Amino acid sequence: MIASGGVSPARARPTHGLIDQILALDPGRRGIATFFRPGAALAAARALRRARRVLIVTGFTVKPDMPETDGPPGAAVLGRALRLLGARVRYVTDRVNAPIVGAALATLGEPPDVVVCPDGKDVARGVLAAERPTCLVAIERPGRNHAGDYLSMRGESVAAWNAPLDALFMVPSRATTIGIGDGGNEIGMGVVRARLRRLGPLATRIASVVAVDHLVVAGVSNWGGYGVVAALSRLAGRDLLHTPELERRLVEACVAAGASDGVTRRREPTVDGLPIEAHAAVVELLRWAACSGIIPA
Ligand code: CA
Repeated sequence: MIASGGVSPARARPTHGLIDQILALDPGRRGIATFFRPGAALAAARALRRARRVLIVTGFTVKPDMPETDGPPGAAVLGRALRLLGARVRYVTDRVNAPIVGAALATLGEPPDVVVCPDGKDVARGVLAAERPTCLVAIERPGRNHAGDYLSMRGESVAAWNAPLDALFMVPSRATTIGIGDGGNEIGMGVVRARLRRLGPLATRIASVVAVDHLVVAGVSNWGGYGVVAALSRLAGRDLLHTPELERRLVEACVAAGASDGVTRRREPTVDGLPIEAHAAVVELLRWAACSGIIPA
């Protein structure tokens, strides 16, 4: 945050660390600064560091049978880090996204511990009762809007091909909840609805009402997941993040398993319209941020 109006620079708290600066990049010009949450990646990492049982919900299908490349790589990288820290980690998704999540996990050599939810309305309570998560994480997963619909960034309903897994975050449970997103229409964005309204009628209409304890906003949702892992690395004093080379392989594996770019809607190894080199570069920057002394741990 930039100090202003009567706060001297010397007294301003250093809330905007390097991980935040990287996550706040706004390549899609979505007005990220309006709903960005400084310090959220670190707060989420603190909540997750000693988590025992984690469910990670992901998978955004932009058109029938067209799952996207944003989400599963971030889920797999975050899940791997949490497993290395001792958590039991499972991934929750739907039929269409299950092969994409599986491909991301296989690329990292992670166990394919995927709960595939059947289509239908009342799966949430059953999943929570069976899994008893201590932490629930959503990354790039549609969250319902004020009308109960699920809208894409273009304002089109995607409700018919995205199961209502946001219900996991709406029924009472003891789990700490974390949401990671980049557009305003994902699980967790209920926290910043008032800010999303400032971005105009489309942002207001797509805004999800589903709130979480910790909302991490990033220019690309995968980056948000990686940012939390960079913060976890700082906290734990361990290198938990993947590498730029693995980032390339992750996205390529998702595309080979059937994923498309959610923005261009082409089946090619890009994420949100950005070439793979850009994502590899962000991973490199976050790796540096994780091992530099800049982020307060
Ligand atoms: Ca995205």
